[in-house]
Amino acid sequence: MPIVALSAIEEAARRIAGHVRRTPVDLSPSLSKIANVPVHLKLEHRQITGAFKLRGATNAVLSLSETERQNGVACASTGNHGRALAHAASALGVRCIVCMSKLVPQNKLDAIAALGAEARIIGRSQDEAQREVDRLVAEEGFTDIPPFDHRAIVAGQGTIGLEMLEDVPGAETILVPLSGGGLIAGIAAAAKGLKPDVRVIGISMQRGAAMQASLAAGRPVEVEELPTLADSLGGGIGLANEWTFEAVRELVDEVVLLTEAEIAAGIRHAYFQEREIVEGGSAVGIAALLAGKVRPAGPTIALLSGRNIAMDLHRRIVEGANCLEDPA
Ligand SMILES: *Cc1c(COP(=O)(O)O)cnc(C)c1O
Repeated sequence: MPIVALSAIEEAARRIAGHVRRTPVDLSPSLSKIANVPVHLKLEHRQITGAFKLRGATNAVLSLSETERQNGVACASTGNHGRALAHAASALGVRCIVCMSKLVPQNKLDAIAALGAEARIIGRSQDEAQREVDRLVAEEGFTDIPPFDHRAIVAGQGTIGLEMLEDVPGAETILVPLSGGGLIAGIAAAAKGLKPDVRVIGISMQRGAAMQASLAAGRPVEVEELPTLADSLGGGIGLANEWTFEAVRELVDEVVLLTEAEIAAGIRHAYFQEREIVEGGSAVGIAALLAGKVRPAGPTIALLSGRNIAMDLHRRIVEGANCLEDPA
C-alpha cells in the first residue's frame, strides 16, 4: 500500500485545479537523439512561483479545517516551499508567517514578502527559525506546513504524475529530482498506481545526498550540507522522517548521483538546446541523460522542477563555468 493512495492524489488534483497551472509536456528532439528513446520534458518550472511546490502547498492549505484556516500557517523555508506557501496562503486569504534567520539574504526576504506572507526574522540559524515556527504552533494555533514530509504535500506533488501519464501514456521511465522525497513519492504513487511497471528514477547531487545516504543506511541519517548548484535539493530528510523515507524505499527503482560539472552541463543544455532557464535542482534529469548515468528503456519523461536560479549565476554557467569544484 503506498503511503499516499492514487485516490488521494486524484482528489488533490480536483482540489487544486484552478489554483495551480497545468504545465505542458514537450518532446525534446535533442535528448531523444542522445538517449535513443523519445524523451519528453515536463515543464513544471513554468509553474506559478517558479516551482512545483505550489501544488503541495495549495493542497495542504485547502485541506485545512475552517479553524485551522482562520489561525494561519507557518513554515521556516525561504526557498521554493516558502514561496509556494506564501503564495498559496495569500491567494486563499489565509495568514502565513515565514520564519527565517538573520542570515537570509534580503532578496529572499523581499520575495517572500512580495508574495503576501509575513517574514519573521529570528535567530541566526535555520534551527532557530524552526523553533519560532514550533512556538507559533504551540502558543498561537498556527499550523506548520513542512516542505515534504506531509501527506497533503505528497498528494499535491503527485498530481504531476497524473498529468505526465495523461500526456504521455506510453511513458516507461520517469526521471525526478530527489531531495526530501515528497516530489518523487507523490509522482511514483500516481504513476505506479496508473501503470505499475513504469520505472521511477530519483536524481540528486553527490554533494550532500541525504535520501541516498539514508537508503544506504536503512534509516534516516544526517549528511553534511555542502554548497551545490542544485541548492533546492540540499538539506536533510529529517531524523524523525514519517512518510517520505518509507515511500521512496518502496516506490523508487533507482537513485542516481551527479557531479557539479554534470549539473552545470544540464543547465547549459536546457538553455541552449531547449531554450529553458532552469535551476540546478531542476536540470538533474537532463544532466543524468547527458552523462549516460541513466539508460532509459522506452519513452521517458524528465521533470523540470523549478527555475528559481539567481540570474547572475545562471549567466556564468551558460558562459561555461561549472561554478563549484567537484570533490577529488
Ligand atoms: C524541493 C525541490 C525539489 C525536491 O523535492 P523533494 O520533495 O524535497 O524531494 C526538486 N526541485 C526543486 C526545484 C525543488 O524546489
